[in-house]
Amino acid sequence: MQTRLFIVSNRLPVTVEQIDNEFVSRPSSGGLISAISAYLKDGGKGSFSDVVWAGVPGCSEKIWQTVTSKVGKDDYTYLPVFISSETYESYYNGFSNSLLWPLFHYFPSYVDYNPAYYESYMEVNKIFAGILSKEVRKEDIVWIHDYHLLPLASMLRHLCPGITIGFFLHIPFPSYELFRVMPKVWQRGLLTGMLGADLIGFHTLDYASHFLSSVEELLRIEHDGQYVSWQNREVKADAFPISIDYDLFRNAYDNPKVIGIRERYLRIKGDRKMIFSVDRLDYTKGISKRLNGYEQFLSDNPEYAGKIIFALVVVPSRDTIEKYAERKQIIDETVGNLNSRSGDIAWQPILYIYGHLSFEELTALYTACDLALITPIRDGMNLVSKEFVASRKDRQGVLVLSEMAGAANELTEALLINPNDVREIAIEIKNGLEMDKKEQERRMTAMQDRIRRYDVNAWASDFFDQLMHVKSIQLEFEFKFLDNMTRLELVNKYSHSAKRLLLLDYDGSLVPFARLPAEASPGEDVLETLRNLSADPRNEVYIVSGRDSQTLESWFSGFPIGLISEHGAKVRHKEGQWETAVKSNTDAWMPGVEKIMEVYVSRCPHSFIEKKEFSIAWHYRNADLNEGIIRAGELYKDLERFASSSSLNVLNGHKVIEVRMKGINKGIATAKLLDRSTVDFILSIGDDETDEDMFKKLATLPEAYTIKIGNDASFAKYNLYNPGMVQSLLQTISNYHKMP
Ligand code: UDP
Repeated sequence: MQTRLFIVSNRLPVTVEQIDNEFVSRPSSGGLISAISAYLKDGGKGSFSDVVWAGVPGCSEKIWQTVTSKVGKDDYTYLPVFISSETYESYYNGFSNSLLWPLFHYFPSYVDYNPAYYESYMEVNKIFAGILSKEVRKEDIVWIHDYHLLPLASMLRHLCPGITIGFFLHIPFPSYELFRVMPKVWQRGLLTGMLGADLIGFHTLDYASHFLSSVEELLRIEHDGQYVSWQNREVKADAFPISIDYDLFRNAYDNPKVIGIRERYLRIKGDRKMIFSVDRLDYTKGISKRLNGYEQFLSDNPEYAGKIIFALVVVPSRDTIEKYAERKQIIDETVGNLNSRSGDIAWQPILYIYGHLSFEELTALYTACDLALITPIRDGMNLVSKEFVASRKDRQGVLVLSEMAGAANELTEALLINPNDVREIAIEIKNGLEMDKKEQERRMTAMQDRIRRYDVNAWASDFFDQLMHVKSIQLEFEFKFLDNMTRLELVNKYSHSAKRLLLLDYDGSLVPFARLPAEASPGEDVLETLRNLSADPRNEVYIVSGRDSQTLESWFSGFPIGLISEHGAKVRHKEGQWETAVKSNTDAWMPGVEKIMEVYVSRCPHSFIEKKEFSIAWHYRNADLNEGIIRAGELYKDLERFASSSSLNVLNGHKVIEVRMKGINKGIATAKLLDRSTVDFILSIGDDETDEDMFKKLATLPEAYTIKIGNDASFAKYNLYNPGMVQSLLQTISNYHKMP
């Protein structure tokens, strides 16, 4: 069966209209639709047996049926999602555009925290999930788009586990300080929702890192800058700056229709300079400040009076939302005032158009103007700036661009401005208008090269390649996961063996981590399992731990099991006394190490030192994760420097930096145990870096089952996710000898 691609967005890429009492559908436009169609036309379609687009059609089910019964097969198979108008209003104009949009664009004071909006938002996402789940098969790829559908990935995964889901956010992801402004339940619903995807794409690395910080802060799970482990899956967050159909805009320059319109504009312009801007009506676009900047320019440079014209196009958008209607009024007034203050009967400084432009009109304006003035207060990407650059086949024209637009990361040869700085806008308008032709060409060429290389096809292919890569990483892990078959084989080998060695790490393997080391004492279930295991005379059970001997003794003194403390520094066999494996004069080095660590206890709140007989550890498990990781890196370097000429080892463990004598590790301890007796079955379980020495030592022994807890790279042959799974495995084998 072949892979189908499911594109999921709020709206379907068609608009249904009534013409002369008849309903007809026509393809819609928009950044996402152009991006996907360009990618599919360019060969992307060959990778899929069908492309299904799911979204809200914007008409009733009855009308949709009449319309679709009349048309043949389009570029896509449509999967319409019907939502009642009341719920849609609350989901779309409410939660999506009156909460997420302003909050994610750093306008917290515009946010409407209406709990009913959140409920509708979740409800609509659930409806999407329900409809998709009936259609999607395991081999399909689902690509979900934008802020309207943040929780959809996890809802869909819940209904169809194992499927491949990509998610792309087309707006900024704000810093955690802003994200946390909304109720915690909502934060959690959105973040865990997004984590249902395998790959989460953003326009910039900043947005991706904001997302990962929010995940870390709210859900308390770590990331490595790109990956997080969530519900037994590796999820990747990365940047994929969306782009445009470069050739479409470049070729428009020579399109006869565009030439005709351009010539008309050039006649109107005469020998005056022309500034151009086009945006949807939105408070994020910075239109008022832009007009203030233009007025400042006119007042600073009176010689331009009558010699410049600003074509300001504002495209109607979301005008049923109060904040948008308000904005329209503000812009109308500002334009009116500016024209009457700075202009006269013969000259109006602003040519204001409130309406939609056709592709030809748009590209004619892009190519007729001297300067494009694009000044959003915040913009996830801003395609207009890329389209302007691509359409300038003549390599002339200047781009003045807000540094708050995602596009500013790529369009670095633009004149970058702060959109709130009216004076800077005025200065750069002047610089742009007076830039010599050679410099314009140099800048334009550099920006065009960049957009050509990472055009919309590269964007989509890059996303799919990464999605497949994440999937292969997940599969690799699944491959190592101790599945039922291997588990059966392990139990079988165990039951047929005559002498067994069980090497069990404690923290993170037998029991989960606790806030303080002293709080992680073994529960009755763990004790019961150990009791059962050690009751079988064929078993030699050892706890192989980084803990000190007193602690192990206090927990397991009555048990007929061996104890290995401080990673092998001391050993107590089943019926023996504690023996020291190495000679170490800790007085010679430990106070020095402790002094260094104390500095880090002060610098990193909630970190602490654990002093043992042969080693000393600095734990940061209770500290702020980001801070802990940064301080751990610094401490590690300081200690390496301190230990360079001595016989000390510095270890970077699971949220701990530990210093101990060289010649002590779990591998050496394991080797000594193997020398003591011959065994025909070994089970070794551990979770952190210090357990790798033990796994390495056992790697070539066919009778050894080595199991790593968690999903980091390891010398262990198998993985299990958590101590609960270890407990279940040990219980199974511990009960084995009791069976008849
Ligand atoms: N655009 C449009 N109709 C118009 C004028 C422009 O559809 O009348 C297009 C423009 O070509 C661009 C998109 O709208 O592709 C605007 O995208 P951008 O990322 O700049 O801003 P957004 O509106 O998505 O916030």
